[in-house]
Amino acid sequence: MTSDAASARPDPTDEVVDLCRDLLRIDTTNTGDNATSAGERRAAEYVAEKLAEVGVESRLVESAPGRANLVARIPGADPGRDALLVHGHLDVVPADADEWSVHPFSGEVRDGYLWGRGAIDMKDFDAMVLAVVRDWQRTGVRPPRDIVLAYTADEEAGSDYGARYLVERHPDLFDGCTEAIGEVGGFSYSVNDATRLYLIETAEKGLDWLRLHAKGRPGHGSFIHDDNAVTALAEAVARIGRHRFPVTVTDTVRAFLAEVSDVLGVELDPEDPETAISKLGPIANIIGATIRSTANPTRLQAGYKDNVIPGRATATIDCRSLPGQSEMLEQQLRELVGPDIDIEYIQRQPAWETTFDGDLVAAMSAALRAEDPGARPVPYMLSGGTDAKAFAQLGIRCFGFAPLRLPADLNFSALFHGIDERVPVDGLQFGVRVLDRFLRSC
Ligand SMILES: [Zn+2]
Repeated sequence: MTSDAASARPDPTDEVVDLCRDLLRIDTTNTGDNATSAGERRAAEYVAEKLAEVGVESRLVESAPGRANLVARIPGADPGRDALLVHGHLDVVPADADEWSVHPFSGEVRDGYLWGRGAIDMKDFDAMVLAVVRDWQRTGVRPPRDIVLAYTADEEAGSDYGARYLVERHPDLFDGCTEAIGEVGGFSYSVNDATRLYLIETAEKGLDWLRLHAKGRPGHGSFIHDDNAVTALAEAVARIGRHRFPVTVTDTVRAFLAEVSDVLGVELDPEDPETAISKLGPIANIIGATIRSTANPTRLQAGYKDNVIPGRATATIDCRSLPGQSEMLEQQLRELVGPDIDIEYIQRQPAWETTFDGDLVAAMSAALRAEDPGARPVPYMLSGGTDAKAFAQLGIRCFGFAPLRLPADLNFSALFHGIDERVPVDGLQFGVRVLDRFLRSC
């Protein structure tokens, strides 16, 4: 090795591609079952090693054998300031190789994209953060305040072994953290050649998963029977499935529509948000689910034999509540199912919402505009859930900000948990530059 090569510092925008590819090649499939979930510990160890190489100590916290989380604290220049939490999950949803154009764990670069399960959800951000931190450590950059890094397990199956475990069992690891960034936000939506909206997540709907229990009189399938648990359950499930909760425009959605209306130069009637949202093309399905609470039946279970009327039947309902509507939703569901069906909550994670203002938002916006003069940051609400729900329980003000500039024609939302998940290499590099600027000024 020549002395030049030895002293050459890797460019973080090059290194991010290697880091992301390495992470994609570690299969961290989360099946929801500890026996079949793979690789989270290996991925956490990889991150620990990459941090240790540049002198950052980290702590591995296992919630169950193989289910590992990693937390590290990078001291800031002003220890008197509150810390910023930067979090990303390492697990991914399953992928069926037969359906993909490339092997989902090959980390292949093709046509300007890095392909693989987790490329946008969310090993891209995991790698960006690593690339920035490694570069800072090599060059002696200190963040203005403490930054706590958390790489979590189990986000894709409810976070019980990941963020929720850390928050419940090891809240001390997040001492002093008052603000956080993670998924799903900071990605671009092209309005035209000159203007891109960058959707910054400032709210998440609540997650209310519940199970309906119907009871009846068991009996023979050949007799007259007026107390059939399957019939009662089916009627309740159908009422829920056809129910529409009222349209409610929250502050976040109102601010989003106002920005979009302005940038598109069209009148978007806040009294008729559905028509407004239908004009948004590929992001319509991201925004469309944020104007009302929803309740979708997802599973049914009853019976064990074709000619036996069972005494019990159960159904699962996946509800997503707007901020402040969880109780209203429960009350309406109780009315819909009637007094004879019991409701059991199997998950209840509250919604959260913050305002789109303050120094941190200004820093995000400035970093985006510096790297993309056509950037127009806008707040939005995510209808799904992320680890932010757990961290919000500690009183941390969360944002979805994993910056990514996307090609105008890419259907980004379809790639989440989708076939041929991939991230544009230049988008990944853009993300590193934006994060570097943002974290220097956070
Ligand atoms: Zn994710």
